[in-house]
Amino acid sequence: MIRISQSLIKAFNCPMRGKYLVDRDKRYQAYGPGLTGQALHRFAEKYLFHLHEGGLETDPSFYEQVLPIGAEFPTYLDFSDYSYLCSQFLKYFAVESDKDINRYAVEEILSITSSLPGVLMEGRPDYWVNYGPEDVMVDIWDWKTNRRLWTQSECEDNIQLKYYTMLVHKALRERPKFYNLAYYFPRHQSIREFTMTADDIAYFEEYITERIRHIMELTEWPAVPNIDNCTYCECWHECPDKEIKEDNILIMAHNIIIYKKKIKEYNSQLKGLVETHGPIELNGNMLDFYLSESVDLFDMPGIIKMMEEAGCEETEISGAKLSKESIKKACKRYKGLWEEIVKKHGKVSKSTRFSWRKCE
Ligand code: SF4
Repeated sequence: MIRISQSLIKAFNCPMRGKYLVDRDKRYQAYGPGLTGQALHRFAEKYLFHLHEGGLETDPSFYEQVLPIGAEFPTYLDFSDYSYLCSQFLKYFAVESDKDINRYAVEEILSITSSLPGVLMEGRPDYWVNYGPEDVMVDIWDWKTNRRLWTQSECEDNIQLKYYTMLVHKALRERPKFYNLAYYFPRHQSIREFTMTADDIAYFEEYITERIRHIMELTEWPAVPNIDNCTYCECWHECPDKEIKEDNILIMAHNIIIYKKKIKEYNSQLKGLVETHGPIELNGNMLDFYLSESVDLFDMPGIIKMMEEAGCEETEISGAKLSKESIKKACKRYKGLWEEIVKKHGKVSKSTRFSWRKCE
């Protein structure tokens, strides 16, 4: 039995990636932004159960749960981004307690057997609520932590929520008149909504069955770069760059994604090596953990006054209004001025940076 999810169907936009996922049954190994999304989903799941159980419309105090849930994730979770998204979610998301709720589900796995032999279609909608019995309709939600807000047509073209709606439709005994599909973008506090009727679902099922049939008939699995796919690709390190002609913009974009991932991976390997074995010297440069200082300046009128009193020229003063670097540059001609400004109008923060520096 082949288990087909909407993400697997999308992965087959690059047959090599799709085949890799089917053959190796590889699980998506999230890191960085992917991990933030996963952590937010875990938080949202707990929060929604909490709201339904308590019959509350919203509960900002649940923010205290951010820390324990975030702690379950690997240390390279971007915690500030995750907690920001959780706070956005809390500001926005409420369960409408004045409506009759027939059934709801959070992160529940749904599956149906397809008309294609040996194919099971399955998916896990983030959240859906069946209101009723009079006002028969279903809200189906998906949270998106993307930095870019999708346009309405991008949302409507995406198969994800439509796929989940098809699964929910089959799971319900009493079929609703229509479904309200909603992509919620906590980073932007925006919702993109659209609807599907039973006829739309039947049409979608035919379309998706055809797509799966096509996937199953494939006999070759070439690498076909596609920004969405490549960004999350699990087999990027096996991607045969050599098989891809290096003559178009898409390939260049693809290679940038691949190389960025490689740089990130090598960098974290090197960090571990330097931590264990000490600094690395190469071509007169040293890779190590260096203590670095950054300065935040405040009270610009006070700084300008000090510069005037020290005798700075008009051009230096007008340049100073533009940036911290210009102030620093101007101060070079006046002994001790920079140190005085920092002492009076600055805040120095210290941190450790992993970087290359010229050997002394
Ligand atoms: S990196 Fe891109 S082109 Fe290569 S296998 Fe993955 S999705 Fe396909």
